[in-house]
Amino acid sequence: MAGLRLAGVIGDPVAHSKSPLIHNTWLKRAGLPGLYAPLRATAETFEAVVETGWAMGFVGFNVTIPHKERAYRLVDRLTPSAEAAGAVNTLWRDSDGGVVGDNSDGFGFLENLKAGADGWEPDGRSAVILGAGGAARAVAAALLAAGVERLTVANRTAARAEAIAAMDPERARAAAWPPEPSAFEAADLIVNATSLGMVGQPPFDLALPPLGPRVLATDLIYAPLDTPFLQAAAAAGARTVDGLGMLLHQARPGFARWFGVAPTVDAALRDAVLTGEGCLP
Ligand code: NDP
Repeated sequence: MAGLRLAGVIGDPVAHSKSPLIHNTWLKRAGLPGLYAPLRATAETFEAVVETGWAMGFVGFNVTIPHKERAYRLVDRLTPSAEAAGAVNTLWRDSDGGVVGDNSDGFGFLENLKAGADGWEPDGRSAVILGAGGAARAVAAALLAAGVERLTVANRTAARAEAIAAMDPERARAAAWPPEPSAFEAADLIVNATSLGMVGQPPFDLALPPLGPRVLATDLIYAPLDTPFLQAAAAAGARTVDGLGMLLHQARPGFARWFGVAPTVDAALRDAVLTGEGCLP
């Protein structure tokens, strides 16, 4: 079809990815002739899949597990958020053909809090991140860029928490694992960025001190939606925002860049992703 625009998500495994559902729903809503496909690539084939995609006329890609760091090393240019996160989840080509790598996880994280907690903003706040993997790093970079006053990172492997704290030694520090109750003192925001509590992973079993409604708690995990961490935070009196919105919002910058239309995250999209009854090709 003339004018058909192709994009896709590259990962391994990729069959479980919700991204095709999100982007194909937006394409249909916008009435655009396009297709967003899941593309499986191993460590050996990742670069060939990207090259073949460009040669076929793809306008861009999302990159997911386990290729985000590899994509970071592959691109010609990085956006500031990709540079800070040390990982790339969105690729497009500039007018000169150069490949640009962006990381929209931090954007999706902040937009989800804004939408889910009455316009919540990080400026001047104190945040605690549990975990120090790739997603935690993107979230930390976004919180620091958005003006958080204090950032505490607690992680099982201390060196990874220290590496994130080193992004801004004035405002960020690493804390012990498991975190002492004092690590949560004065926290406005607590983020679970570990994989604890995710379907198929070990349970989240950290004790949380009393928190109260001033504290906002959010989990990056969205399977299940109501995670053990969110349940514990709610029992401690905190407000909660689940992790599904982060996934939906992180998809926005890529779609806008590739297809030239700013998409909307709403309840219908959320339902489509939850039920798997969105628009798949
Ligand atoms: P990584 O594998 O990079 O990091 C996993 C983190 O969990 C590390 O901090 C790791 O600690 C910690 N962890 C794992 N097992 C244990 C354990 N038994 N005890 C204590 N800590 C543990 O994953 P990502 O950063 O990419 O993803 C983290 C979570 O965020 C995943 O559940 C993922 O699905 C979710 N996610 C959600 C997104 C969204 O859009 N909502 C986007 C991206 C991720 P250690 O360093 O010691 O190994």
